[in-house]
Amino acid sequence: MRAITFRGIRELALEELPDPRILQPEDAIVAVELAAICGSDLHPYRGHEQGLERGTVLGHEFLGRVVAIGSGVRSLTLGTRVVAPFSTSCGSCRFCRAGLSARCTRGELFGWRESGRGLHGAQAELVRVPLADTTLLPVPATADPVEALFSGDILSTGTYVAELGGVEPESTVAVIGAGPVGLMACIAAREAGAARVYALDSIEERLDLARRFGAIPLDYRRPTTRTRIEDETDGAGVDCALECVGSPGATRLALDLLRPGGTLAAAGVHTEAHLAFSPGEAYDKNLTYRAGRCPARRLMDQTLALVAGRSLGLGAIVSHRVGLEGVIDAYRLFDERREGCTKVLIDPRS
Ligand SMILES: [Zn+2]
Ligand SMILES: [Zn+2]
Repeated sequence: MRAITFRGIRELALEELPDPRILQPEDAIVAVELAAICGSDLHPYRGHEQGLERGTVLGHEFLGRVVAIGSGVRSLTLGTRVVAPFSTSCGSCRFCRAGLSARCTRGELFGWRESGRGLHGAQAELVRVPLADTTLLPVPATADPVEALFSGDILSTGTYVAELGGVEPESTVAVIGAGPVGLMACIAAREAGAARVYALDSIEERLDLARRFGAIPLDYRRPTTRTRIEDETDGAGVDCALECVGSPGATRLALDLLRPGGTLAAAGVHTEAHLAFSPGEAYDKNLTYRAGRCPARRLMDQTLALVAGRSLGLGAIVSHRVGLEGVIDAYRLFDERREGCTKVLIDPRS
């Protein structure tokens, strides 16, 4: 099969590899119909996250058809169209039962191999899926494939950060960063009944998308942005700040916009050593801070049902569509934020 492999920092290859095989009775092999490049694929690409083994097939967002199953697979049959969360999960360990499927004791991330262990990813023609029964979900016929794909990662992550932030009917919400996850957080906050959702970014195309998804777009560099939010929240600040960037500046902005007693929820992946605020500042704000990897498999029961019920117009964030031979260039565009690159879809069959 053809696949995109990691060769080193900013170095990828399109390679011909042996087809993945069933290794465990609970495995399935999926022929990928649609994959994507995620913002978090850029962390090893840029060298910000270390340890990824050379030769690992990248990618953890995918939808496709089951083409082989192990003897222990019960709920899936050949030909079923399925979508995956970004990691596998068993559905029965204490973390899965507690709704933290991303912390499954048997779970593994797609597209992450380290020291000879781990899973290859889905920017490929085929992908092996362990724990297939409890990891994969059949795609409802009424769901748009792109929206179903997004339910496995960015839509669930946006929904999770809104959940962590305690967004409820009538909440005021600030979403820091209007990238794919931030945009999904805007939608999730609206779905949860938020009265007002402010989306803060500096990139015009992203702010336009935020407006389209029901948020009030604000350029965080403008001095009027903070005063406007203050004025519209009785001078107190927002109830919930959803940080979807993963930088100290974004954390700081989130804290500054938050009212006393508010919740700061972080979906951004951080690589710095310390939080961007002091224990004293947290105390003075009676702050609740929540963070963590999204339990996408658990959230997908909700997000996949949501997109099966009606289209959310999520296709609007797709800026590029490529075949496998276009993926290496697409990473470059995405990394350098060129050509309005917001979200890249991959069709390995084209
Ligand atoms: Zn991702
Ligand atoms: Zn588990």
